[in-house]
Amino acid sequence: MTDQDQILGRLARSAFRSRFRLGRKQRRYADARGRETVAAHARDFIAARLAPVEPPNDGRQTPMRGHPVFIAQHATACCCRSCLQKWHGIPRGRALDAAQQAQIVDLLMAWIDREMGFRPPPPPARPAE
Ligand SMILES: [Zn+2]
Repeated sequence: MTDQDQILGRLARSAFRSRFRLGRKQRRYADARGRETVAAHARDFIAARLAPVEPPNDGRQTPMRGHPVFIAQHATACCCRSCLQKWHGIPRGRALDAAQQAQIVDLLMAWIDREMGFRPPPPPARPAE
């Protein structure tokens, strides 16, 4: 089990976190824009809203509706620096480095992939003998 599976499992057991799901509108948006674009938005949001030492409006910077990445941020407790500290052990009062930002984006995209029903590709078929 990866760290990511572990944290997704913990989040699934939280009544508050597991309440967040992508609605039809958000799935349609993600479908239309494509996974790469959604991931690029996630990188931008994290860099601008979460990564600074003192993010503007910390605690209220992530809307509860709208962009699929916002929903993923609430579902994965990557919505503000308090939740990052509480759930992910990332201390407040320090800017997020590139590795931490990448880790958060990976988690957001893993959650979005599950909501979108994306599955890893099946293993290659065995060549005929
Ligand atoms: Zn939060």
